[in-house]
Amino acid sequence: MSSPTTPAQVTDSAGIEQFVDERQLLHVLMQRSAIGLIVVDTLGVVEFVNTLAQTLCACSPTQLVGKNCVTLFAQDLASVANTALQNGLANGCGWGMETMIQRMDGTQFWCDFQLVPVEDARTGSTRWCVFLHDISHLKHAADKIQHISSFDQLTLLPNRAQFLQNLHQLLSSASANGDFVLMVWIDVDHLRTINDAMGHAVADQVLLTVADRMREASRRQDLLARLGGDEFALVLSGGTDAQDLREAAERLIRNLEVDLVTQACTVKFSLTAGTAIFPTDARYVDDLMSCAEMALREAKKAGDGGIGHFVTGLGNLGASHAQAVAELRNAIAAGELRLHYQPQLSLHSGQVIGLEALVRWQHPTRGLLAPFHFIALAEECGLIITLGEWVMRTAVQQIRDWRTDGLTPVRVAVNLSAPHFRQKGLPDAIEKLLFDHGVPAALLELELTESVMMRDAEAAIHIVDRLKMLGLRISLDDFGTGYSSLAYLSRFAIDVIKIDQSFVANITTNPVNASIATATIAMAHKLGKTVIAEGVETQGQMTYLRRHECDEMQGYLFSRPVDAPTISDMLRSGAGINLSLDQGEAQMTLLLVDDEPNILNALKRLLRREGYRILCAESAAQGLDLLATHRVHVVISDQRMPVMTGTEFLSRVKDLYPDTVRLVLSGYSELESLTDAINKGAIYRYISKPWDDAMFKQDVTQAFRYYRERNPASTLNNHEAD
Ligand code: C2E
Ligand code: MG
Ligand code: MG
Repeated sequence: MSSPTTPAQVTDSAGIEQFVDERQLLHVLMQRSAIGLIVVDTLGVVEFVNTLAQTLCACSPTQLVGKNCVTLFAQDLASVANTALQNGLANGCGWGMETMIQRMDGTQFWCDFQLVPVEDARTGSTRWCVFLHDISHLKHAADKIQHISSFDQLTLLPNRAQFLQNLHQLLSSASANGDFVLMVWIDVDHLRTINDAMGHAVADQVLLTVADRMREASRRQDLLARLGGDEFALVLSGGTDAQDLREAAERLIRNLEVDLVTQACTVKFSLTAGTAIFPTDARYVDDLMSCAEMALREAKKAGDGGIGHFVTGLGNLGASHAQAVAELRNAIAAGELRLHYQPQLSLHSGQVIGLEALVRWQHPTRGLLAPFHFIALAEECGLIITLGEWVMRTAVQQIRDWRTDGLTPVRVAVNLSAPHFRQKGLPDAIEKLLFDHGVPAALLELELTESVMMRDAEAAIHIVDRLKMLGLRISLDDFGTGYSSLAYLSRFAIDVIKIDQSFVANITTNPVNASIATATIAMAHKLGKTVIAEGVETQGQMTYLRRHECDEMQGYLFSRPVDAPTISDMLRSGAGINLSLDQGEAQMTLLLVDDEPNILNALKRLLRREGYRILCAESAAQGLDLLATHRVHVVISDQRMPVMTGTEFLSRVKDLYPDTVRLVLSGYSELESLTDAINKGAIYRYISKPWDDAMFKQDVTQAFRYYRERNPASTLNNHEAD
């Protein structure tokens, strides 16, 4: 750029009023601008670099002037950046992106790079400016927020929220592998006293020491977390023997308690812990946490430094075994049991079509107790049949009452324990019960688990046949948690398969869970059975199940188990769930995933006239949510994203939604890491970043064409044919 005066001629102390020449004033302003500014010619060759741009790029003007501004890009981006830049220069629109800039000293920084045309009104010619904004602080802040929301900032262990997510994942794979998992809730004894007597710093040091020792003593597959305050979690998995896991945990905890020696003092501390075993004590995250916490509270009562193991029954609520049995026996007689009902909905109509009866115990001092507190105890002490009979009678009476009240009758499912199922004369007793209350058998369903049926299968087949003959509906509860195959189970006259909630929990994110669920649905349908999914908590899970032809669902998404009057209101008001599928179902839908909003905006702008419905996600997780709730045909994902790379994300998408066409946006240098994904068919095509606008549009058009070729039955609008 020709300059009226060299920078040296303009003294910094000069007042603006001293400038006589406007061009000279402009030059000073450009030099002092708080934005990094580079002027380039129509080929991108640098003509001028202002002071801030020199500082940002750690260069002198002579190092840059005369060179193409592409040299600023980190090496792996240079060639692709050049293409996009030349493109932007040639089409007169300019170009911009958030990118890594390579300083002359070799270091790099995050920069918002914007190439902007500047028209010269007099000559009609165009000059080009590059604006550079250092956005490193924003990128670091985003990383930091991500870290703070998932990790405890003192110990750097995962925090409670992150831990619950990890535990969810672990339980579903343990469930699939048939492994035991041990959850240990650890409490540092008297941390408050240490805090008061020795100060914050020492108390923090104790927490850090515990965390460090936990890290050292644990294996890669173990989960660790700081749950908050003085509490930690440790989860051991991979064991086929629960006792081995308990012993391993005990050894590990005892090794954590070595005195902490600081320069000023020696701190003695002890740890108390409570353990619970999956799946013996509890099968779900919340229940497992409650069991371990209860075991911890009990251990605390016994004194410092102990390790308590969860004991089924009320042991963890401070009652001895004998006392618990007496209390439970009395509870049934004293009318302390309650029956709650959880609605089951048709995934075809969205209407409530059934209810599952779930027992609770309104304990006089301990509040409303969930079944895991007392069902196992009832089984152990022989009270389970009495309890089961109470449940069955109450459910049938309730059906009668709803019918008497004129409410549209819905079927009620009752869970049947093994001893109750095998009780002699059960079919006759049920027949009489139904008759006495004038309730049609079609309104009663019995839920049996695999383990209930598998013990003496031949006898069980016979009992199920007898129950079926009454006209009852029979369902197989918690399917997938046992070991028997559906083909084998089809020997039983079962009407319904209930997919266990551990498979539903990660159905939109975990391809293994998803394929177990979808294979179960397909197989069950081939065998002529209805499929219901339990534990449906999100819209995404529901839509996914619906798209895969699951017939019914039950879960917190619609309602938790509630009391009978609440169900009456629901039935009266005709409550249901809105199943209107994604409105844009038949429209060509493109999902763009990139952690940089600028890129998403640029791509949306680029494609806005192409007639696609465009969905945008700033992370892989958000992308999976959108896929679960919308019919998507083509997915384009950035490769470099925090948490999950584009290829990892697209591989999951391939497994979860195999008919989608998947493209990755990536720098040339990443090509090697993409090869594997391309070979495995996870990626249809790769688009170089920065992209060429025209080529990009063409790639998207081809991707949709490819989709239609592979899915000829698809109802997708063929706008090309227009
Ligand atoms: P189940 O038969 O598999 O019942 C489903 C359990 O999942 C219920 O727990 C229900 O509250 C819970 N649930 C339902 N939707 C969701 C959801 O969206 N998310 C999550 N996280 N959980 C959900 P509940 O009531 O604690 O019952 C636990 C188990 O206790 C039952 O599992 C069943 O095996 C047993 N049980 C309950 N009532 C009876 C009964 O009357 N007799 C017998 N023998 N067992 C019973
Ligand atoms: Mg059930
Ligand atoms: Mg179940």
